[in-house]
Amino acid sequence: MAKIIDGKAIAATIRQEVADDTARFKAETGITPGLAVVIVGEDPGSQLYVSNKEKACAEVGFYSEKHELSVDTTEEDLLTLVEKLNGDEKIHGVLVQLPLPSHIDEDKIIDTIHPMKDVDGFHPVSIGNLLIGKPGFVPCTPHGIIVLLERSGVDITGKNAVVVGRSNIVGKPVSVLLLQENATVTICHSRTADLAAETRRADILVVAIGKPRMIKADMVSDGVVVIDVGTNRVDGKWAGDVDFDEVEKKASAITPVPGGVGPMTIAMLMQNTLKSAQMKVKK
Ligand code: NDP
Repeated sequence: MAKIIDGKAIAATIRQEVADDTARFKAETGITPGLAVVIVGEDPGSQLYVSNKEKACAEVGFYSEKHELSVDTTEEDLLTLVEKLNGDEKIHGVLVQLPLPSHIDEDKIIDTIHPMKDVDGFHPVSIGNLLIGKPGFVPCTPHGIIVLLERSGVDITGKNAVVVGRSNIVGKPVSVLLLQENATVTICHSRTADLAAETRRADILVVAIGKPRMIKADMVSDGVVVIDVGTNRVDGKWAGDVDFDEVEKKASAITPVPGGVGPMTIAMLMQNTLKSAQMKVKK
Protein backbone atom coordinates (compact mmCIF):
# COMPACT_ATOMS: atom_id res chain seq x y z
CA MET A 1 0.00 0.00 0.00
CA ALA A 2 1.31 3.40 -0.94
CA LYS A 3 1.84 6.30 1.39
CA ILE A 4 -0.84 8.88 0.58
CA ILE A 5 0.73 12.30 -0.02
CA ASP A 6 -1.62 14.62 1.85
CA GLY A 7 -1.62 17.80 -0.22
CA LYS A 8 -4.39 19.30 1.86
CA ALA A 9 -2.35 19.07 5.06
CA ILE A 10 0.91 20.23 3.44
CA ALA A 11 -0.89 23.18 1.81
CA ALA A 12 -2.46 24.14 5.17
CA THR A 13 1.03 24.16 6.75
CA ILE A 14 2.33 26.40 3.96
CA ARG A 15 -0.61 28.80 4.29
CA GLN A 16 0.13 29.01 8.03
CA GLU A 17 3.80 29.77 7.27
CA VAL A 18 2.72 32.49 4.81
CA ALA A 19 0.31 33.91 7.44
CA ASP A 20 3.15 34.08 10.02
CA ASP A 21 5.58 35.67 7.54
CA THR A 22 2.88 38.13 6.43
CA ALA A 23 2.20 39.21 10.02
CA ARG A 24 5.95 39.85 10.50
CA PHE A 25 6.23 41.67 7.17
CA LYS A 26 3.26 43.91 8.00
CA ALA A 27 4.69 44.72 11.44
CA GLU A 28 8.09 45.60 9.95
CA THR A 29 6.96 47.57 6.89
CA GLY A 30 3.34 48.63 7.46
CA ILE A 31 2.58 47.10 4.04
CA THR A 32 -0.21 44.59 3.43
CA PRO A 33 0.41 42.27 0.47
CA GLY A 34 -2.38 42.70 -2.08
CA LEU A 35 -3.73 40.36 -4.75
CA ALA A 36 -6.14 41.35 -7.53
CA VAL A 37 -8.06 38.55 -9.22
CA VAL A 38 -9.85 39.23 -12.48
CA ILE A 39 -12.55 36.90 -13.74
CA VAL A 40 -14.35 37.21 -17.05
CA GLY A 41 -17.69 35.40 -17.47
CA GLU A 42 -19.50 33.00 -15.20
CA ASP A 43 -17.83 29.62 -15.66
CA PRO A 44 -18.69 27.75 -12.42
CA GLY A 45 -15.22 26.13 -12.18
CA SER A 46 -13.49 29.50 -12.51
CA GLN A 47 -15.90 31.08 -9.99
CA LEU A 48 -15.03 28.36 -7.48
CA TYR A 49 -11.25 28.76 -7.99
CA VAL A 50 -11.54 32.53 -7.59
CA SER A 51 -13.60 32.30 -4.41
CA ASN A 52 -11.05 29.81 -2.96
CA LYS A 53 -8.26 32.27 -3.77
CA GLU A 54 -10.15 35.07 -2.02
CA LYS A 55 -10.69 32.88 1.04
CA ALA A 56 -6.99 31.99 1.16
CA CYS A 57 -6.04 35.68 0.93
CA ALA A 58 -8.24 36.50 3.93
CA GLU A 59 -6.78 33.55 5.87
CA VAL A 60 -3.14 34.63 5.40
CA GLY A 61 -3.87 38.32 6.04
CA PHE A 62 -3.66 39.77 2.51
CA TYR A 63 -5.67 42.56 0.97
CA SER A 64 -7.57 41.20 -2.02
CA GLU A 65 -9.91 42.51 -4.66
CA LYS A 66 -12.04 40.68 -7.17
CA HIS A 67 -12.89 42.18 -10.55
CA GLU A 68 -15.84 40.40 -12.12
CA LEU A 69 -16.32 41.27 -15.77
CA SER A 70 -19.16 40.17 -18.02
CA VAL A 71 -18.55 37.51 -20.67
CA ASP A 72 -18.82 40.12 -23.47
CA THR A 73 -16.08 42.37 -22.03
CA THR A 74 -13.77 43.53 -24.83
CA GLU A 75 -10.08 42.69 -24.97
CA GLU A 76 -9.35 46.42 -24.82
CA ASP A 77 -11.33 46.86 -21.59
CA LEU A 78 -9.52 43.92 -20.00
CA LEU A 79 -6.12 45.27 -21.07
CA THR A 80 -7.03 48.66 -19.58
CA LEU A 81 -7.94 47.02 -16.26
CA VAL A 82 -4.70 44.99 -16.18
CA GLU A 83 -2.66 48.15 -16.86
CA LYS A 84 -4.50 49.98 -14.08
CA LEU A 85 -3.74 47.13 -11.64
CA ASN A 86 -0.08 47.12 -12.80
CA GLY A 87 0.17 50.71 -11.55
CA ASP A 88 -1.84 50.22 -8.35
CA GLU A 89 0.39 50.54 -5.23
CA LYS A 90 -1.92 48.36 -3.08
CA ILE A 91 -1.62 45.45 -5.51
CA HIS A 92 1.43 43.15 -5.56
CA GLY A 93 -0.04 40.33 -7.61
CA VAL A 94 -2.33 40.44 -10.65
CA LEU A 95 -4.05 37.23 -11.65
CA VAL A 96 -6.39 36.84 -14.60
CA GLN A 97 -8.35 33.63 -14.23
CA LEU A 98 -8.07 31.39 -17.30
CA PRO A 99 -9.62 30.31 -19.59
CA LEU A 100 -10.83 33.59 -21.11
CA PRO A 101 -13.68 33.84 -23.64
CA SER A 102 -12.51 33.03 -27.18
CA HIS A 103 -12.73 36.64 -28.44
CA ILE A 104 -9.93 37.62 -26.02
CA ASP A 105 -6.29 36.76 -26.83
CA GLU A 106 -5.01 35.10 -23.63
CA ASP A 107 -1.35 35.54 -24.57
CA LYS A 108 -1.85 39.28 -25.06
CA ILE A 109 -3.42 39.59 -21.60
CA ILE A 110 -0.67 37.53 -19.90
CA ASP A 111 2.01 39.57 -21.71
CA THR A 112 0.47 42.78 -20.34
CA ILE A 113 0.67 41.76 -16.67
CA HIS A 114 3.76 43.42 -15.21
CA PRO A 115 6.44 40.72 -14.68
CA MET A 116 6.95 42.05 -11.11
CA LYS A 117 3.26 41.28 -10.38
CA ASP A 118 3.06 38.01 -12.32
CA VAL A 119 2.21 35.80 -9.33
CA ASP A 120 0.78 33.08 -11.60
CA GLY A 121 4.22 32.82 -13.23
CA PHE A 122 2.79 32.59 -16.78
CA HIS A 123 4.47 35.71 -18.26
CA PRO A 124 7.21 34.94 -20.83
CA VAL A 125 9.72 36.74 -18.57
CA SER A 126 8.85 34.42 -15.66
CA ILE A 127 9.04 31.33 -17.88
CA GLY A 128 12.36 32.52 -19.35
CA ASN A 129 13.84 33.08 -15.88
CA LEU A 130 12.66 29.61 -14.85
CA LEU A 131 14.33 28.02 -17.86
CA ILE A 132 17.71 29.66 -17.28
CA GLY A 133 17.55 29.18 -13.50
CA LYS A 134 17.25 32.85 -12.53
CA PRO A 135 15.05 34.01 -9.64
CA GLY A 136 11.47 34.91 -10.55
CA PHE A 137 7.90 33.78 -10.11
CA VAL A 138 7.50 30.03 -10.55
CA PRO A 139 4.09 28.83 -11.83
CA CYS A 140 2.01 27.70 -8.86
CA THR A 141 0.98 24.14 -9.76
CA PRO A 142 4.45 22.97 -10.90
CA HIS A 143 6.07 24.61 -7.88
CA GLY A 144 3.47 22.97 -5.63
CA ILE A 145 4.39 19.56 -7.08
CA ILE A 146 8.07 20.01 -6.19
CA VAL A 147 7.19 21.16 -2.68
CA LEU A 148 4.87 18.14 -2.24
CA LEU A 149 7.76 15.82 -3.17
CA GLU A 150 10.23 17.63 -0.90
CA ARG A 151 7.91 17.73 2.11
CA SER A 152 7.07 14.06 1.65
CA GLY A 153 10.75 13.22 1.95
CA VAL A 154 11.19 12.17 -1.71
CA ASP A 155 14.77 12.69 -2.88
CA ILE A 156 14.63 13.88 -6.51
CA THR A 157 18.36 13.89 -7.32
CA GLY A 158 19.38 11.21 -9.81
CA LYS A 159 15.86 9.80 -10.14
CA ASN A 160 14.13 9.03 -13.44
CA ALA A 161 11.28 11.52 -13.53
CA VAL A 162 8.67 10.99 -16.24
CA VAL A 163 6.19 13.79 -16.93
CA VAL A 164 3.10 12.99 -19.01
CA GLY A 165 1.78 16.23 -20.56
CA ARG A 166 3.63 19.20 -22.05
CA SER A 167 1.31 22.17 -21.42
CA ASN A 168 2.78 25.59 -20.68
CA ILE A 169 1.12 25.71 -17.27
CA VAL A 170 1.98 22.23 -15.93
CA GLY A 171 3.97 19.76 -18.03
CA LYS A 172 6.76 21.98 -19.38
CA PRO A 173 7.47 24.01 -16.21
CA VAL A 174 7.36 20.98 -13.89
CA SER A 175 9.85 19.24 -16.21
CA VAL A 176 12.23 22.21 -15.91
CA LEU A 177 11.86 22.22 -12.11
CA LEU A 178 12.55 18.48 -11.88
CA LEU A 179 15.64 19.00 -14.03
CA GLN A 180 16.78 21.77 -11.68
CA GLU A 181 16.38 19.31 -8.83
CA ASN A 182 18.77 16.98 -10.71
CA ALA A 183 16.29 14.39 -11.93
CA THR A 184 16.75 12.78 -15.34
CA VAL A 185 13.58 13.95 -17.05
CA THR A 186 11.48 12.40 -19.83
CA ILE A 187 8.53 14.40 -21.19
CA CYS A 188 5.68 12.42 -22.80
CA HIS A 189 2.72 13.68 -24.82
CA SER A 190 -0.01 12.51 -27.18
CA ARG A 191 2.51 11.54 -29.89
CA THR A 192 4.77 9.51 -27.59
CA ALA A 193 5.26 6.18 -29.39
CA ASP A 194 5.04 3.82 -26.40
CA LEU A 195 3.73 5.67 -23.35
CA ALA A 196 3.65 2.61 -21.05
CA ALA A 197 7.31 1.82 -21.80
CA GLU A 198 8.24 5.37 -20.74
CA THR A 199 6.05 5.51 -17.63
CA ARG A 200 7.35 2.12 -16.46
CA ARG A 201 10.86 3.58 -16.29
CA ALA A 202 9.71 6.27 -13.83
CA ASP A 203 10.89 6.53 -10.24
CA ILE A 204 8.78 9.70 -10.07
CA LEU A 205 5.75 9.94 -12.36
CA VAL A 206 3.92 13.26 -12.84
CA VAL A 207 0.71 12.99 -14.84
CA ALA A 208 -1.04 16.09 -16.27
CA ILE A 209 -3.14 15.05 -19.25
CA GLY A 210 -6.79 15.66 -18.38
CA LYS A 211 -8.00 12.09 -19.15
CA PRO A 212 -9.68 10.30 -16.22
CA ARG A 213 -7.84 7.24 -14.83
CA MET A 214 -5.72 6.79 -17.95
CA ILE A 215 -2.59 5.57 -16.14
CA LYS A 216 -3.17 1.94 -15.13
CA ALA A 217 -1.20 -0.40 -12.86
CA ASP A 218 0.53 -2.15 -15.79
CA MET A 219 1.99 1.20 -16.85
CA VAL A 220 4.01 1.74 -13.64
CA SER A 221 6.79 -0.07 -11.80
CA ASP A 222 6.78 -1.16 -8.17
CA GLY A 223 7.79 1.60 -5.78
CA VAL A 224 7.03 4.54 -8.09
CA VAL A 225 6.10 7.92 -6.58
CA VAL A 226 3.01 9.22 -8.40
CA ILE A 227 1.87 12.83 -8.62
CA ASP A 228 -1.56 13.04 -10.25
CA VAL A 229 -2.36 16.57 -11.47
CA GLY A 230 -5.53 15.66 -13.36
CA THR A 231 -8.87 17.05 -12.25
CA ASN A 232 -11.69 15.41 -14.18
CA ARG A 233 -15.41 15.29 -13.39
CA VAL A 234 -16.73 11.71 -13.69
CA ASP A 235 -20.33 10.94 -12.64
CA GLY A 236 -20.41 14.03 -10.44
CA LYS A 237 -17.15 13.15 -8.65
CA TRP A 238 -13.50 14.18 -9.08
CA ALA A 239 -11.15 11.71 -10.73
CA GLY A 240 -7.45 12.06 -11.43
CA ASP A 241 -5.56 11.04 -14.56
CA VAL A 242 -4.27 7.98 -12.67
CA ASP A 243 -6.35 4.94 -11.78
CA PHE A 244 -5.77 5.49 -8.06
CA ASP A 245 -7.26 2.20 -6.78
CA GLU A 246 -5.05 0.10 -9.08
CA VAL A 247 -1.84 2.15 -9.03
CA GLU A 248 -1.86 2.70 -5.26
CA LYS A 249 -1.13 -1.03 -4.82
CA LYS A 250 2.20 -0.71 -6.66
CA ALA A 251 3.29 2.83 -5.78
CA SER A 252 5.41 3.74 -2.76
CA ALA A 253 3.62 7.12 -2.53
CA ILE A 254 0.74 8.74 -4.43
CA THR A 255 -1.34 11.92 -4.38
CA PRO A 256 -5.12 11.57 -4.13
CA VAL A 257 -7.60 13.57 -6.25
CA PRO A 258 -8.97 15.69 -4.70
CA GLY A 259 -6.64 16.62 -1.85
CA GLY A 260 -3.28 16.22 -3.60
CA VAL A 261 -1.90 18.80 -6.02
CA GLY A 262 -5.01 21.05 -6.08
CA PRO A 263 -4.66 22.68 -2.64
CA MET A 264 -0.94 23.29 -3.28
CA THR A 265 -1.68 25.58 -6.23
CA ILE A 266 -3.39 28.17 -4.04
CA ALA A 267 -0.79 27.85 -1.26
CA MET A 268 1.98 28.63 -3.78
CA LEU A 269 -0.04 31.59 -5.10
CA MET A 270 -0.07 32.99 -1.55
CA GLN A 271 3.71 32.47 -1.32
CA ASN A 272 4.26 34.26 -4.64
CA THR A 273 2.12 37.25 -3.61
CA LEU A 274 4.03 37.68 -0.35
CA LYS A 275 7.30 37.33 -2.26
CA SER A 276 6.17 40.07 -4.66
CA ALA A 277 5.45 42.47 -1.78
CA GLN A 278 8.81 41.60 -0.18
CA MET A 279 10.68 42.18 -3.46
CA LYS A 280 9.05 45.58 -3.88
CA VAL A 281 10.36 46.69 -0.49
CA LYS A 282 13.88 45.45 -1.33
CA LYS A 283 13.99 47.31 -4.67
P1 NDP B 1 -3.63 20.46 -21.47
O1 NDP B 1 -4.87 19.97 -22.11
O2 NDP B 1 -3.16 21.84 -21.76
O3 NDP B 1 -2.45 19.45 -21.81
C1 NDP B 1 -2.63 18.07 -21.78
C2 NDP B 1 -1.35 17.39 -22.17
O4 NDP B 1 -1.57 15.99 -22.11
C3 NDP B 1 -0.88 17.70 -23.59
O5 NDP B 1 0.49 17.98 -23.61
C4 NDP B 1 -1.23 16.44 -24.37
O6 NDP B 1 -0.31 16.15 -25.41
C5 NDP B 1 -1.12 15.38 -23.30
N1 NDP B 1 -1.95 14.23 -23.63
C6 NDP B 1 -3.26 14.22 -23.95
N2 NDP B 1 -3.67 12.97 -24.21
C7 NDP B 1 -2.59 12.17 -24.06
C8 NDP B 1 -2.37 10.78 -24.22
N3 NDP B 1 -3.36 9.96 -24.57
N4 NDP B 1 -1.14 10.30 -23.99
C9 NDP B 1 -0.13 11.12 -23.62
N5 NDP B 1 -0.27 12.45 -23.46
C10 NDP B 1 -1.49 12.97 -23.68
O7 NDP B 1 -3.85 20.24 -19.92
P2 NDP B 1 -3.21 20.97 -18.62
O8 NDP B 1 -1.76 20.69 -18.55
O9 NDP B 1 -3.70 22.36 -18.52
O10 NDP B 1 -3.96 20.14 -17.48
C11 NDP B 1 -3.83 18.74 -17.34
C12 NDP B 1 -4.74 18.26 -16.23
O11 NDP B 1 -4.33 18.87 -15.00
C13 NDP B 1 -6.21 18.64 -16.39
O12 NDP B 1 -7.01 17.61 -15.85
C14 NDP B 1 -6.35 19.90 -15.56
O13 NDP B 1 -7.66 20.10 -15.10
C15 NDP B 1 -5.42 19.58 -14.43
N6 NDP B 1 -4.89 20.77 -13.74
C16 NDP B 1 -4.95 20.77 -12.38
C17 NDP B 1 -4.43 21.83 -11.66
C18 NDP B 1 -4.49 21.78 -10.19
O14 NDP B 1 -4.29 22.78 -9.54
N7 NDP B 1 -4.72 20.61 -9.60
C19 NDP B 1 -3.84 23.00 -12.32
C20 NDP B 1 -3.75 22.86 -13.76
C21 NDP B 1 -4.27 21.78 -14.43
P3 NDP B 1 -0.13 17.09 -26.72
O15 NDP B 1 0.69 18.26 -26.26
O16 NDP B 1 0.59 16.20 -27.67
O17 NDP B 1 -1.51 17.46 -27.16
